[in-house]
Amino acid sequence: MWLRRVALACGDGGSVGRVGGLRLRGAVARLSVTSRVGTKASSSDAEQKKAWKADAIRQQMAQHATDTSSMTVVQGKPGVCVLGRPVGPLAMNQYLVFCEDTKEAAIVDSGTDTMPDFLDIIKNEQLDVKYLLQTHAHPDHVAGLAVTKRQFPAAKVVMHEKELPVAAAAPQFGQAFGLSIEPLPEPDLLLDDNATITIGNLTFRALHTPGHCPGHLCFYEEEKGILFSGDLLFKGTVGRTDLPGSAQADMKASLQRLVEVVRSSDIDESDTHIFPGHMEPTTMRFELRVNPFLQMMKRAARKQ
Ligand SMILES: [Zn+2]
Repeated sequence: MWLRRVALACGDGGSVGRVGGLRLRGAVARLSVTSRVGTKASSSDAEQKKAWKADAIRQQMAQHATDTSSMTVVQGKPGVCVLGRPVGPLAMNQYLVFCEDTKEAAIVDSGTDTMPDFLDIIKNEQLDVKYLLQTHAHPDHVAGLAVTKRQFPAAKVVMHEKELPVAAAAPQFGQAFGLSIEPLPEPDLLLDDNATITIGNLTFRALHTPGHCPGHLCFYEEEKGILFSGDLLFKGTVGRTDLPGSAQADMKASLQRLVEVVRSSDIDESDTHIFPGHMEPTTMRFELRVNPFLQMMKRAARKQ
């Protein structure tokens, strides 16, 4: 087990606004969390060496970043590295995840084109970007999908079939947010619930989790305890359900299911790291303890 400092910065330009179900206050919130990373078993020396690779990557990012003030997340576990940063006016988190052993990679949610510092890492680490994973197709999450596909033409665009109408409407819907969005590339792969994709030695399971939008997917790597939660679950709150295509009852069911899926895994809840579509990362244990929506669900379940 080892401790890592993860720094995150996110800004809302000084206004009080609502982003992905969260209220942001203040000019720039610079947050720093200490997270415990590792598996239940104690790490061997070799594993620790690998794990620390994330630190080296983080340093590289800091060196190459055009704007280090907006550097977000670099978090690793043995064999896997996750990089993330908020992009676009709605501060959507774009992630790059890769298998350290095979160098296969995926980009989760292309809110803009792939940023120069990510491109540097992809180049320096000689990563093979195999997938462009879309948790959903709201404008802030797909604004850069067309250009990202041009950057990585061999990468497969992945989403859920029920998200296709949302994707088709994204250019028009984006205008409401001041986003100019090119028509999206056709998905190469439509994932059903529980379908898996492999990124090197990593296996991500797609969890169809509607509520925020009809075709919302979470991507869950059970062995490593890594979850990309899109706009379903954030630190201390959940995604909006007041948008076209949202459904509160579905949201509740999806959250319930997510908790059950994570709880049934071998990885401790404190070691299940959640990388959401907005704001900073969290863990399932933290959410079960403090997230009022999950608390409410727990209380309701107790009464039954
Ligand atoms: Zn959304």
